Amino acid sequence: MVVGAGSAGCALAGRLTERPGLRVLLLEAGPADLVAEVRDAASLAATRIGHPRNWAHPTTLRSGTHQPVPRGRGLGGSSAINGANWVRATPADADGWGVPDWTWDELLPHYIASESDELGGPMHGSAGPVPVRRPAGELLHPASGRFLDAATRLGHPAEPDKNAGAAPGAGLVPANAVDGVRVNAATAYLGGDRPGLTVRSAALVARVLLDGDRAIGVEMADGSTVEAGEVVLAAGAVGTPHLLLRSGVGPADDLRAAGIHVRHDLPGVGQGWSDHPVVFLPFADADPPAHPHAPGSQAALNLDAGADPAGDVEVLLFVRPFVEGGDLHLMCALQQPDSRGSITLDAAGRPRIEYRYLRTEHDRRRLRHAIRTAAELLRAGVGARTAPGGDVLGNDRTLDGWIAAHLTTSVHLCGSAAMGPVVDAELRVRGMQGLRVADTSILPTVPRRGPSATAVAIGEKAAHLVGALRDPSAAPTLAR
Ligand SMILES: Cc1cc2nc3c(=O)[nH]c(=O)nc-3n(C[C@H](O)[C@H](O)[C@H](O)COP(=O)(O)OP(=O)(O)OC[C@H]3O[C@@H](n4cnc5c(N)ncnc54)[C@H](O)[C@@H]3O)c2cc1C
Repeated sequence: MVVGAGSAGCALAGRLTERPGLRVLLLEAGPADLVAEVRDAASLAATRIGHPRNWAHPTTLRSGTHQPVPRGRGLGGSSAINGANWVRATPADADGWGVPDWTWDELLPHYIASESDELGGPMHGSAGPVPVRRPAGELLHPASGRFLDAATRLGHPAEPDKNAGAAPGAGLVPANAVDGVRVNAATAYLGGDRPGLTVRSAALVARVLLDGDRAIGVEMADGSTVEAGEVVLAAGAVGTPHLLLRSGVGPADDLRAAGIHVRHDLPGVGQGWSDHPVVFLPFADADPPAHPHAPGSQAALNLDAGADPAGDVEVLLFVRPFVEGGDLHLMCALQQPDSRGSITLDAAGRPRIEYRYLRTEHDRRRLRHAIRTAAELLRAGVGARTAPGGDVLGNDRTLDGWIAAHLTTSVHLCGSAAMGPVVDAELRVRGMQGLRVADTSILPTVPRRGPSATAVAIGEKAAHLVGALRDPSAAPTLAR
């Protein structure tokens, strides 16, 4: 049983059911229909509050800053509503996790297996279910060219292929979209003839059923139960810790405080996760609107630690205005924050999500650096900044005030049921039998790039781990 048909869950269920003899039940809380805003890669309409494809979780980003945060709901999960940027984690991310079997070399074959990248060559897959394209021709917005030119003028290195595991710099952003159509994980992985696969949408799981320390199935929100030989939680970095907590698996004191019977004291559940804090810098643009099939965000400058002492920041160009006829934006993000968040249960049993962003001066300094770098790019020819006015950028205190008023998140939450404290390298929940996690919850820290491609690679790798019991010859081989 796989709970959650998101990026990782679809890849896992799809790969498992390529093998004869395996039966997989995929349970998804949300709908299955492929509405227009899910197909349109440039549309973020499904991220609005109240949209059936969006959980819109209430969160606290930092003390006093409350914001609903979108997460995908329905077949494809977050991959059905996201920005469709398809960028792998960096080698430093994977190697930094320090988990055996999850190094960059171990992960690379799973990225490759997932992709059909038009670039070809040994670093890219050519036969995977997810098509990967870069904006070109009429799909390349003029602001992207200006962005790359400005980065060169300012002395930043070029990074022509953001999925090559090479040194960071400025380059076009690959996308899992073809001719403007977002290819989400469900459309990529669940098609074709799969006699072993049963998919149930509108199937909200309430908790995992436990017999002692063994998972034996799930209880649904309507009170019915479904049994399974093995339960894999792929409900995403909010849904998975939420389900573990609701099942009595988590920090014992927090569970008791929430009135949940403690089945297994596991202090790491919902704790210590990270996500990228973000501020958008608007700029005026006189170009014609982006082509209807053009990806919404097209070019990025990455300054990773090592390359830059104030590093681990990203500036990402958005070539579609957030409101018709409005400004374009540079998204300024901190990619390796010190700050760590927590997910606990509120009085009604819902997830209480606290990001605790920008707790350290190190984090605040680097986010300021991201914004000032973006402002330099604008001055170097990308466009005319429309906010903040005056000398806000020149003064740390006033800039911190502006950041506080405009802070948001890139919605890249990872690490809420992490390898190490919560699951082992084979994704088994520590101290439990028959229960695994396979989604972005398991990453010890958020990667320095968006986690969409990595979520799918986790599903690909998990299929080998879950299936290995039954098919030991299924181990992946390194493609380089
Ligand atoms: C608006 C938005 C934009 C983003 N843009 C990008 C981008 O451009 N590039 C990038 O790299 N990353 C992006 N991300 C992040 C990326 O999409 C996610 O990190 C990734 O898709 C998460 O994959 P996952 O498998 O861990 O979880 P998800 O894809 O979120 O899947 C979890 C699934 O589990 C289901 N579920 C949850 N709870 C239950 C339950 N109790 N019962 C049954 N089902 C349940 C959910 O409905 C969902 O379908 C974005 C995310 C969002 C929300």
